[in-house]
Amino acid sequence: MDKSNGLRVILFPLSIQGCINPMIQLAKILHSRGFSITVIHTRFNAPKASNHPLFTFLQIQDGLSETETRTQDVTLLLTLLNRSCESPFRHCLTKLLQSADSDTGEKKEKISCLIDDSGWIFTQPIAQSLNLPRLVLTTYNVSFFRNHFVLPQLRRDEMYLHIQDSEQDDLVQDFPPLRKKDLRRILDQETEVLDSYSAMILETTKASSGLIFVSCEELDQDSLSQTREDFQIPIFTIGPSHSYFPGSSSSLFTVDDTCMPWLDKQEDKSVIYVSFGSIATIGETEFMEIAWGLRNSNQPFLWVVRLSSVEQDTEWIEKIPKKFIEMLHEKGKIVNWSPQQQVLKHRAIGGFLTHNGWNSTVESVCEGVPMICLPFQWDQLSNARFVSDVWMVGVHLEGLIERDEIEGAIRRLLSETEGEAIRERMKLLKEKVGRSLKPKGSSHRSLQHLVDFISSF
Ligand code: UDP
Repeated sequence: MDKSNGLRVILFPLSIQGCINPMIQLAKILHSRGFSITVIHTRFNAPKASNHPLFTFLQIQDGLSETETRTQDVTLLLTLLNRSCESPFRHCLTKLLQSADSDTGEKKEKISCLIDDSGWIFTQPIAQSLNLPRLVLTTYNVSFFRNHFVLPQLRRDEMYLHIQDSEQDDLVQDFPPLRKKDLRRILDQETEVLDSYSAMILETTKASSGLIFVSCEELDQDSLSQTREDFQIPIFTIGPSHSYFPGSSSSLFTVDDTCMPWLDKQEDKSVIYVSFGSIATIGETEFMEIAWGLRNSNQPFLWVVRLSSVEQDTEWIEKIPKKFIEMLHEKGKIVNWSPQQQVLKHRAIGGFLTHNGWNSTVESVCEGVPMICLPFQWDQLSNARFVSDVWMVGVHLEGLIERDEIEGAIRRLLSETEGEAIRERMKLLKEKVGRSLKPKGSSHRSLQHLVDFISSF
């Protein structure tokens, strides 16, 4: 940490892995620039305070029952959390501000601002009533963040619900780079309930003091310019936040490190890494198709199978014949949770079969690992299109979880000339993003602006 600057920042991550990681990374960055850090968090998915002895952690009640904490339904989870955390959060923040005001000691600190996730929709009025500036961190890519506010209107228009086969691959003009079939998948899902939630996100973000993206100009300049026009608040693109302090210390799962010595034994760029993040679930049929696709490709693979990543009725996984699992282990390794950032850095990794969560996508770009895109829902469909259609650094499975498709995609990526071109483009993209994080680079400058901005309150 630089010398303390006498300012404290309060952070409040949304309680899911993909939102906790960037928020804790931001905490580390700000701490290194002299800020003291307080993290308010829910009891559910609480980050491990012991991993961050220099931060203060304050837990609030979230009102979730044991059954509710096990739900796979993220929309329901976010609704419940937003409903029950408002009052405990208000109480916690008020107390923090009061004790900062009444502190007369030598180490008196000023609370500079609150930084919380765009998914918390009750925090803006609370911060405002307490005269505390609030900045919003979003873990979406810039384009998806800006465009997803148009979804309620598109749903009302119904035009994308009934599309001809011949139009499936057409670009959605209102929501690039999505194709019509992607948009139909987004609208098909039970996302109607999210319409009013999105409207609240829009309103509370516009009323905030600033918006932070874990992205950089180099990845999506057009959407960034449009977002600046739409929002008229300061916008910061600090770049892939994990790059500043490599290695994740905010994992909610127990990391299985045994994959690292296993990777050491594999040839350069030969291993397919497979992970669908912390939320996506697959059923028995999909599991078997992926397993056969990997096995038939004859490439070594490292596959993250979280216990909760198989659909709730998990009995079937125990019924998979031992022989089949043994056969998988001849070529591959299965772990519950990996040290993903380290894995992607490993010289043996040749490709990443991913659900294209934003964190996974940028982590892959930063390590120059080409992707096989298998998005499941929501912003993942947009991230995947950036990978396959805009940056052209991966192949897209187009939703087909079939063994031949998976085997074919692995071959295209690792053994064919198409793969060579993809790897070449990925190398250039990695360099471009890497440059943005260096002094004078766009993310580096934006981060400095953020630090200056927060210091000015
Ligand atoms: N991750 C990890 N180990 C794993 C799988 C994922 O550390 O075995 C991390 C990954 O590095 C990323 C986060 O979990 O930072 C997942 O975030 P992402 O946005 O990709 O997906 P989500 O979990 O939100 O769907």
